[in-house]
Amino acid sequence: MATILKNKVPQRKCIGCNESKPKKELIRIVKTPEGEMLVDDTGRANGRGAYICNNPECLQKAIKSKGLNRAFKMNVDTDVLIKLSEEMAKLGKR
Ligand SMILES: [Zn+2]
Repeated sequence: MATILKNKVPQRKCIGCNESKPKKELIRIVKTPEGEMLVDDTGRANGRGAYICNNPECLQKAIKSKGLNRAFKMNVDTDVLIKLSEEMAKLGKR
């Protein structure tokens, strides 16, 4: 049996529950240089990013605790939050 030494999975902190989780279990939200907020499906979009669990509760927490605003150093509009939660819901259904 081969010993697997490659267990250094990159971890990121969810801006909702503040738990560190493997990057691939989290959703990346990105603010593009144009100022657009989107769910980064590919994980490679340009811009400032924040990570969140694929869980509507974490998004709610991030909104309540202003974690999103802190992560992006701006006030995130309600419209944008609705859009993000819809995009997260879509990802969850895959
Ligand atoms: Zn979370």
